[in-house]
Amino acid sequence: MRCKLCQEDKILCQSHIVPESAYGPIYDGQHRFFEVTNMKEYLRPLQKGLRESLLCGDCEQHLNKYESYFANTWFQNSLIPTHASNEITTIEGLDYHLFKLFHMSILWRAGIASREEFANVNLGQHEEDLRKLILYDKPGNPNQYGIFGYILVFPGNYQVCHSLLIQPVEVDFYHVTGFHIIFGGCVWHYFLANDIDLNQFPFVLKEDGILHMLRIEVDQYDPVMDLMKERHNRGWKRKG
Ligand SMILES: [Zn+2]
Repeated sequence: MRCKLCQEDKILCQSHIVPESAYGPIYDGQHRFFEVTNMKEYLRPLQKGLRESLLCGDCEQHLNKYESYFANTWFQNSLIPTHASNEITTIEGLDYHLFKLFHMSILWRAGIASREEFANVNLGQHEEDLRKLILYDKPGNPNQYGIFGYILVFPGNYQVCHSLLIQPVEVDFYHVTGFHIIFGGCVWHYFLANDIDLNQFPFVLKEDGILHMLRIEVDQYDPVMDLMKERHNRGWKRKG
């Protein structure tokens, strides 16, 4: 079997697409989810722990560096607050290299996964670019596959929401294609482009390791609303 990252013929592991650790230790089941609205009726929940034969042991180890960095800083160092009382939360001290590559690896894995839960993540020509950057441990410039995030909160009390698990959503943001993937109390926005204008998107993570994150209430989150309508009308797009 050929490893999707190094492309060598090796024995493959059952690799996580979004690692368990990305959801954090404080994931508390689904009960809070139901307080929001009855949106679950149309949304397909994303299960934690989805796996596929993707990577060899060496490549698993390679990605594990990024995963442990994220889990350790985001949750153990409590970078993600329990409440987002301000409209913008500034998070400082991130390691650009590790943090960016972690998110790039999530996007890339979602793109290569063949499970139907990730069917709408098509990376096209960028799949190969992302593979090489990840394989050679290169985070790229901030304007290449740039990332930023929103802190997802419950309406009213602004408590950070860790329990909305939905499939990745394709998002056109100011005419640049990207994807939203939700975990760690945030909606992560991944630009599928290697030349975005950083003046136009000032919240994108840069080498200074500072993230400015807008707060978004779960019942105001457009993709959730759009998704509900879309699901209702015609179901999911398929890959290929
Ligand atoms: Zn490999």
